[in-house]
Amino acid sequence: MPKAKVRGCYQSSVGARPPRCYVVGSVMCPPCVNALGIYKRVKANKAAKRRQDNRASAARSRQKKDQKTSDIHSDHLALTAEFEELAQELADITRASQALAAAITIKSEERNGLVHAKNLRSVSPSAHPSK
Ligand SMILES: [Zn+2]
Repeated sequence: MPKAKVRGCYQSSVGARPPRCYVVGSVMCPPCVNALGIYKRVKANKAAKRRQDNRASAARSRQKKDQKTSDIHSDHLALTAEFEELAQELADITRASQALAAAITIKSEERNGLVHAKNLRSVSPSAHPSK
C-alpha cells in the first residue's frame, strides 16, 4: 500500500522541479527526500552558473569599457598632436604673412618715393621758367 502512494509522488528525474509528495504524513517519503536533494543541488548549480555568467558578462562589459576608454585616450592623444601641428602651421603662416605685409609696405613706400621723385623731376623744370 505505501508503494502505490510512492508511485503517485511526482519527482523530476533531472531535478528541474521540486518533488511533490503524496505520501500521507508529516514527512516526505525517502524517494521524494532524495529527489528534493537532487533538485536543491541542481538549483544551486544553476544559481552558481548564473552568477558565473553574470560575472563573465560584467567582466566583458568592463573590458569593453576599458577598451573604449583607451580608444578615446589614444584618439585624444592623436587629436592633441594634430592640434599642436596645426597651431605650429598657423604660427608659421602668420609669420610669413607678417613678413609679406612688411615687404609690401616697404615696396609701397619705395614706389611712393619713386612717384614723389618723379613728380619732383616733372615739377622742377616747370618751376624754373616761372623764375
Ligand atoms: Zn513522496
